[in-house]
Amino acid sequence: MKTSDVNREIDRMTQNRKRHCSTIVICSECSEEHLTTEIECVNIEEDIQGRDVLYFVCPVTNMETKSLVYKK
Ligand SMILES: [Zn+2]
Repeated sequence: MKTSDVNREIDRMTQNRKRHCSTIVICSECSEEHLTTEIECVNIEEDIQGRDVLYFVCPVTNMETKSLVYKK
């Protein structure tokens, strides 16, 4: 996937979700919850069950990690 496509996809997802509620990830780096609007998103995928998996940079450790996306 091209970077521009990824950014467009993330924009689309975050815009959809902002209308309903905020979304979070559970960070495996720092074990905290991060709002998806407050992290640097790298990529997004669906797992085999169709759930969104977000790749992002943890603002605490600055390490790239991934998490399922949860509704707050
Ligand atoms: Zn973190």
